[in-house]
Amino acid sequence: MELNPFDVVKRQIDIVAKEMGLDPNITKYLKRVERALIVSIPIIMDDGSLQIFDGYRVHHLTVRGPGKGGIRYSPEVTLDEVKALATWMTWKCSLLKLPLGGAKGGVCVDPRKLSRGELERLTRRYTSEIINIIGPDIDVPAPDVNTNAQVMAWIMDTYSMNKGRSIPGVVTGKPIEIGGSVGRESATGMGLFYVLEAMYEKLNIILKTQSIVIQGFGNVGGWIARILYEHGCKILAVSDISGGIFYPDGLEIDKLLDWTQKGNYLKDYSDKRYKLITNEELLTIECDILIPAALENQITQDNAHNIKSKIVLEGANGPTSPKADKILFDKGIHVIPDILANAGGVCVSYFEYVQDIRAYFWDIDRINRELKRILLEAFEEVYKVTKERKIALRTAAYIISVSRIAKAIELRGFFP
Ligand code: GLU
Repeated sequence: MELNPFDVVKRQIDIVAKEMGLDPNITKYLKRVERALIVSIPIIMDDGSLQIFDGYRVHHLTVRGPGKGGIRYSPEVTLDEVKALATWMTWKCSLLKLPLGGAKGGVCVDPRKLSRGELERLTRRYTSEIINIIGPDIDVPAPDVNTNAQVMAWIMDTYSMNKGRSIPGVVTGKPIEIGGSVGRESATGMGLFYVLEAMYEKLNIILKTQSIVIQGFGNVGGWIARILYEHGCKILAVSDISGGIFYPDGLEIDKLLDWTQKGNYLKDYSDKRYKLITNEELLTIECDILIPAALENQITQDNAHNIKSKIVLEGANGPTSPKADKILFDKGIHVIPDILANAGGVCVSYFEYVQDIRAYFWDIDRINRELKRILLEAFEEVYKVTKERKIALRTAAYIISVSRIAKAIELRGFFP
């Protein structure tokens, strides 16, 4: 069954509103977005034909500061998906106490089917279409599924050319040469690792001894695979959109990363020992830690009963549906929620934004030290509420994040 991601968001708000006795006016307010811009992006393709793509940029809530959130390029992008992703960014920024709100953008396109020139034209035209609602003090985009530092460079350039001066603080996740931050590329992976380490300390288990399964092998899945592999963990299976590979003795992640970084799919990697599996099969492999690091709605009521890990660490945004959450909770599986687990990305994005605005750059030690400090503080807070109230980590994270937002709304009041 296809779940509408924005319905999932509203369901999650209802769950937390009930748990914390949230003011019904605020509950109502949180279930809509501040603004949603729909644009059409006409591009002359290399063969001379015109193609028109749909694009979106959504601000969910900017009560605590400018909007922040990635831009994804994917044929599955819909307005409701972008609204859901923008809302999750609001919770994530608030949980980390970043002075930022929630936003997200998307273009409905399969970028693998575009030439480099077409991709650049698409990015520049999309940027001009949303130019009035982005900016360092309005809304600051970043990479997400299928976008990268090069795409951010084109956005920064298009915005700057229109304003008549270089404005690096309009996007984060840029190349270092034009105002990007060291440590931004690995940030989501590092963040996942710091949070996982903290969880294992609480559980009193040595992380090194654990077996791992990862869905997704892009920026998030690839980095956490590398970090855990180098840490000494056994990675049993990984997957990309072509499917997954499985080897109970542990995959050689370094070689697989070399392979996929050259543009190859995992399924074409030739090692006779590795078994090809589907993305669905991968989720139900017996392991200690399952890391969904691809798209939303992967663990649902249909397959949650078959999950055989002890921990689910959410690298993706929204990979677990509310019904699946309940099933996993009843089975005693700890789900470390997206808004905490994968928040390292937006955290270092915030550092990049601060560095751009101050025109003063930090070294990698400072980036990772401050990243760890902020994430561990959020983790401790979430863990404490989980223990006190005997609730799931997600509910605890939401209570903390939503309380902070509710307070901000109360203080500012409703205009006029
Ligand atoms: N796309 C990432 C996320 O979902 C990063 C957003 C950002 O850095 O603004 O958290």
